[in-house]
Amino acid sequence: MANFDDTLQRARLAFSSGKTRNVSFRRKQLENLLRCYEEHENEIISALEADLRRPKQESLIVETEFMKNDIKHILFHLDEWVQSEKPPKPFVNLMDDVQIYNDPFGVVLVIGAWNYPLQLLLVPVASAIAAGNCVVIKPSEIAANCAKFIADVIPKYLDNDCYPVVCGGPSETAELLNQRFDYIFYTGSTRVGKIIHAAANKHLTPTTLELGGKSPCYIDKSVELRTAVKRILWGKLINCGQTCIAPDYILCSKEVQEKFIAEAKDVLKEWYGDNIQSSPDLSRVINANNFQRLLGLMKSGRVAVGGNYDASERFIEPTILVDVKETDPIMEEEIFGPILPIFNVESAYEAIKFINNRESPLVLYIFTSETDVQNLFINGTQSGGLCVNDTIMHYAEKSHLLYTCSPTRTS
Ligand code: NAD
Repeated sequence: MANFDDTLQRARLAFSSGKTRNVSFRRKQLENLLRCYEEHENEIISALEADLRRPKQESLIVETEFMKNDIKHILFHLDEWVQSEKPPKPFVNLMDDVQIYNDPFGVVLVIGAWNYPLQLLLVPVASAIAAGNCVVIKPSEIAANCAKFIADVIPKYLDNDCYPVVCGGPSETAELLNQRFDYIFYTGSTRVGKIIHAAANKHLTPTTLELGGKSPCYIDKSVELRTAVKRILWGKLINCGQTCIAPDYILCSKEVQEKFIAEAKDVLKEWYGDNIQSSPDLSRVINANNFQRLLGLMKSGRVAVGGNYDASERFIEPTILVDVKETDPIMEEEIFGPILPIFNVESAYEAIKFINNRESPLVLYIFTSETDVQNLFINGTQSGGLCVNDTIMHYAEKSHLLYTCSPTRTS
């Protein structure tokens, strides 16, 4: 059984020494991390290819460039963010000097997930460093090549007492969670999120839980469908559908469904050619467990597009299912793969009722050129984010929960 007493003891001592309160020290660590990404870009791309068969261009956009830009953004604003603030004073403090200091929490634990194995872990790590914390860095064991890269390379760039990397699966993480942390940042499934939350509660440790969920996509008949299909399939098929904010299922009328399917066949052929399996542009399912889980979900409804698979490569063809029932497993659990079911509704009102009868969506996507329809969804639903006429792009705009794109911009 792993024992993390020493690791935590060293991190606690490092934090108490005041080392990480020094802003120049934080800046240096962040610059080192940025240099690490620059000097090891090819190794990162190879690790992602080995774990997920991720195409290089995708890895650049969603991992390395994303992480580099995040650190550059932090470095640019760091001096401003660490300043104490002078808040407006109420009458009773009018004669006093009132200041708000932004203090670090202390020793923070960041636990990453396998689907974006670097950025989901290292972006929150960079923020925690910037805020002056010591950070225990725990990669997902499921993306084994990326975890090895993180364990082998990151310690060469960061202070080892302040920012230790700890590897392992559920039993090691459970052991780690017996330690008292000052903050826990977790990304992964809701099932494990409950375990993390229960462990944190024992010490009343504050947590951020970045969990999964379903992200419906409503399409009405007013949109230019070719563009909508491209944007939906692109969002669905990045990382082979293994994206928390991928459009999970479609809500549309039978009439829109028929046109959607015809366009989708055409777009998939344009992107991946006649033999999708031989295309270098589609990632693979992470492991055999998830592959089998996805084959189970494919039993819902009827295959209208795709449906082929090959267990030896963990390849699943982009698949569109129709005639699904709302009680089918595919409509109940997060899909997290290249399968897109269509559930028929005859109006925006029916779609809203369907959405509101379920857990709040992680993201709600709507495709319509009617402002009235947009407003029906904005005012009549609740979700983590709402994106109009595009998918995924709202992720780049962290501060706004509503993202609207022109329905006709070519993408
Ligand atoms: P995972 O299996 O990699 O698990 C996540 C982390 O939890 C890993 O570090 C793992 O070691 C640890 N873990 C697993 N079982 C554990 C246990 N029993 N006790 C303690 N720790 C344990 O990833 P996953 O959970 O399959 O990740 C996919 C999920 O993450 C999806 O539901 C997805 O939607 C969600 N996700 C959410 C976001 C977001 O920002 N909201 C981003 C990406 C992924």
